Amino acid sequence: MATLLQIAQLGHPVIRQKAKQVERFEDPKIQTLVDDLIATVMDVNGVGIAAPQVYESLRLFIMASHPNPRYPKAPDMEPTAIINPKIISHSRSKEKDWEGCLSIPGIRALVPRYKWVKVQYCDRQGKKVIQTYTDFLARIFQHESDHLDGIIFLDRLENMQEVMTEKEYLKVVAKL
Ligand code: ZN
Repeated sequence: MATLLQIAQLGHPVIRQKAKQVERFEDPKIQTLVDDLIATVMDVNGVGIAAPQVYESLRLFIMASHPNPRYPKAPDMEPTAIINPKIISHSRSKEKDWEGCLSIPGIRALVPRYKWVKVQYCDRQGKKVIQTYTDFLARIFQHESDHLDGIIFLDRLENMQEVMTEKEYLKVVAKL
């Protein structure tokens, strides 16, 4: 059975650390971490979670987009472990859309991100994967990749006017 993990909040140093590469994919600790991260992100209505957000400073995150009360319009996907990721190429321009973060509860902001990213990563077996993500999934990938470098979504804002509380966000924006 997977364990639900505690989520590190902004202010804890682990959120600002640069995470280390995963070397030993067969290590049962890595496999358990992947299972626990998937259980945790689903439990808290997240669409992605990075290992540093559960106090493990490793270059590993989960993408788990699915419609839920925090992200009613998120597309559905199989929860996927993304390990040692790299963005190989990306769209020229960026688009703004609303993001939140499990480590910064109660806040949403309009964050500029590349519309598409071509990426390379290892799956949980250590197999290399090359894939292109667009729109919301590209956004999740960029948000979670940033966590591996100690960057949070508020660092990416162009304008502090584009921040709101989650309560106001769910009232105003989700109805559009
Ligand atoms: Zn986050």
